Amino acid sequence: MNAIDIRKDFPILDQKVNGKDLIYFDTSATSQTPAKVIEAMNDYYREYNSNVHRGVHTLGTKATDGYEQTRMKVKNFINAKRYEEIVFTRGTTAAINLVARSFGDMIVGADDEIVVTEMEHHANIVPWQQLARRTGAKLVFIPMEADGTITLESVESVVSERTKIVAITHVSNVLGTINDIKEIAKIAHRNDAYISVDGAQAVPHMTVDVQDLDVDFYAFSGHKMLGPTGIGVLYGKSELLDKMEPIEYGGDMIDFVDLRESTWTDLPVKFEAGTPMIAEAIGLSAAIDYITEIGPEAILDYEQELVNYAYGRMSEIEGIEIYGPKERAGLITFNLDGVHPHDLATALDTEGIAVRAGHHCAQPLMKWLDVSSTARASFYVYNTREEIDEFIESLKRTKEFFS
Ligand code: PLP
Repeated sequence: MNAIDIRKDFPILDQKVNGKDLIYFDTSATSQTPAKVIEAMNDYYREYNSNVHRGVHTLGTKATDGYEQTRMKVKNFINAKRYEEIVFTRGTTAAINLVARSFGDMIVGADDEIVVTEMEHHANIVPWQQLARRTGAKLVFIPMEADGTITLESVESVVSERTKIVAITHVSNVLGTINDIKEIAKIAHRNDAYISVDGAQAVPHMTVDVQDLDVDFYAFSGHKMLGPTGIGVLYGKSELLDKMEPIEYGGDMIDFVDLRESTWTDLPVKFEAGTPMIAEAIGLSAAIDYITEIGPEAILDYEQELVNYAYGRMSEIEGIEIYGPKERAGLITFNLDGVHPHDLATALDTEGIAVRAGHHCAQPLMKWLDVSSTARASFYVYNTREEIDEFIESLKRTKEFFS
């Protein structure tokens, strides 16, 4: 994997921000888009923009093929058993809401428990709070270790015969913690519970095999994996999706509509009411091709190299606090003594460096860390060690300025 060559595929990276070469360390919020993805969407709009699953004309057929071929590509990418198990959504958030609303309402009752963690993004906590509110079920939290990991013993300690769903992130967007989803799924299933996984920060960065993990649901977003905004995926086991009710109704998802009654079409379109994100699906397909060409293993290795290097160099800075475990995904969340994270991010931006500052849509986790906000640098295939060196120098200058 050669990041210098890879960078050439990303037109946005070739620019100056505030007079400095852009260093983009905010991939965890949204990743950048290679030219091939942009071109794939351009081609759709220039050459075959049309609705799907409707017309028999040439353009419509080509659009339908592009859309449905993406579904097949996603199926292979995450090794789902069936094509019908891939539902396109607006993103991870919409996918989790679909599970909580449709599946949650179907299986959760007043005496049941929903197990989550304190490290969840709001997208994987608020829908479950709402499910608990609707049903009277109880939310139970897997306790975290001091370093921001969870042990299987802790999972065992809260998952019981009362548990209906374990909803957990694969990779924390704040701590970088990588949860052992395969083992957690076994614990859930041993207790006759289901597992729904937020994969927003995992799928872009490592091999995810949903059959091997044996998860019931798995959600992720296109825009965090080199694809466009506005599209995401819900994987669900077909036997579960089959039993679930749609949560949106209208065109495309119906089989037969009468004045007072209607029936739904088959999976997966049953969950895709209305005109779907066609250009976005075509863009996602090109993004998967791009990731596949590099190889998820190579991506993980490279990010590990970058994050370990960054961790080592950042640790040398006096007054820095880094949150999360040593063994982590390719992101580092931190605070610099005496500098508010927003001031820090603003100072870095004046030097062309984009990092995220704030609560990272994880307010319960901020509370657990006992901070109001943090800064975060996150890395991807287009970042380099040289950029990390620049970042370190900029951090040092900022610290100096505020001291
Ligand atoms: N879950 C995690 C762990 C995330 O990092 C994010 C986005 O930051 C989301 C869910 C929500 O993704 P989206 O906004 O694409 O729906």
